[in-house]
Amino acid sequence: MTHTNDSLFTRAQAIIPGGVNSPVRAFRSVGGTPRFIVRGEGPYLWDAEGRRYIDYVGSWGPMILGHAHPAVVKAVQDAAAHGLSFGMPTEGEIEIAEVVTGLVPSMQRIRFVSSGTEAAMTAIRLARGFTGRSKIIKFEGCYHGHADSLLVKAGSGLLTFGNPSSAGVPPEITQHTLVLDFNDAQQLHDAFKQYGDQIAGVIVEPVAGNMNLVPGSKEFLNAMSTLCTQHGALCIFDEVMTGFRVALHGAQSLYGITPDITVLGKVIGGGMPVAALGGRRDVMEHLSPLGGVYQAGTLSGNPVSVAAGLATLAEIQKPGFYEALSASTASFVNGINAAAGRTHQGFSAASVGGMFGLFASPKPPASYAEVMQADKEKFNHFFHKMLDAGVHLAPSAYEAGFVSAAHTKSVIDETLAAAEQAMQSL
Ligand SMILES: *Cc1c(COP(=O)(O)O)cnc(C)c1O
Repeated sequence: MTHTNDSLFTRAQAIIPGGVNSPVRAFRSVGGTPRFIVRGEGPYLWDAEGRRYIDYVGSWGPMILGHAHPAVVKAVQDAAAHGLSFGMPTEGEIEIAEVVTGLVPSMQRIRFVSSGTEAAMTAIRLARGFTGRSKIIKFEGCYHGHADSLLVKAGSGLLTFGNPSSAGVPPEITQHTLVLDFNDAQQLHDAFKQYGDQIAGVIVEPVAGNMNLVPGSKEFLNAMSTLCTQHGALCIFDEVMTGFRVALHGAQSLYGITPDITVLGKVIGGGMPVAALGGRRDVMEHLSPLGGVYQAGTLSGNPVSVAAGLATLAEIQKPGFYEALSASTASFVNGINAAAGRTHQGFSAASVGGMFGLFASPKPPASYAEVMQADKEKFNHFFHKMLDAGVHLAPSAYEAGFVSAAHTKSVIDETLAAAEQAMQSL
């Protein structure tokens, strides 16, 4: 029996809410039918109808080596042959802890979990447990997974505490979360002036990748770090997306900032469920069993997942890996900007390391408000023209994109030719 994407989507919707296990996959933002993927290899995906796509989603970030990288697949197969899960410690967990903390030295101690959501949720609990304070600060447009206290939108006035952004989250929980504007150092100063002795921590995506791509300004991130230190709050970098993506040592190495807690995910599992939080030893030792902040996980540090992570981390440490990845991502972005210039279609693009933003706006946005001003309709038309041409971009104007090490010059050139044609035909 042959399947079409449409028939699979119909069948999925009959049993899975919205037909998907994570909402952005449903194509609600761009319209149309999501592609059901059968396999991936290198920079390519194939759907249920046998169509090939050049993939710029990379499973939303983890697939930095491309799909089905032979060394990663072999590591997974070898680990699986020895058993899938023990619920007891294994040497692989020590190895991956040593590798990750070696690459991100601010992580003096590290704990592995299975998802970025879990890691960020635990980081918040740890900041509260360590400081004995309840309030946290996050920034509009930054995403830190779907824990209750982080599903917050800004309150009705400046410096008022947030409202739930999801049904099912009691306002009593989000009233401890202050939502400020990303890249606005002045607001952060004002917030600390007013609430400084109540703030447990500030969590940020140093290069925001969940409102398309908006790099934090140096001034903003430095202010965050300094204010946290001055007021005894913890500076939390959520590097689930940027870790091992924008540079080998994370966004913190690009900014020269040492966060108190770092949250990782995505690339560290190489496509398997691995995430981690780590940071100052005195902070991390508040986690159970040493301290009173509870955290646990049946599949935390799973041996098969850890094997995929270790194999991925071995590849990305090879000399020149990030130079090459950054250069090919920059060549993609430059090509998009050149095509936008020739077609006068008001598109722009920017990159940091191996992640990029592609905007239906004449220049890359520097704030959440500017991201929201982009032409969503135009982006959606462009998205579908690219999909028809065999290029899979993120199905939303508000998501960053990813280039992998398997995206060769010819793959990128093919993409750019498709992009220019798509722009021309808008
Ligand atoms: C993806 C992401 C998360 C959530 O990770 P999951 O593994 O999807 O739970 C958290 N923070 C950031 C910055 C992310 O990009």
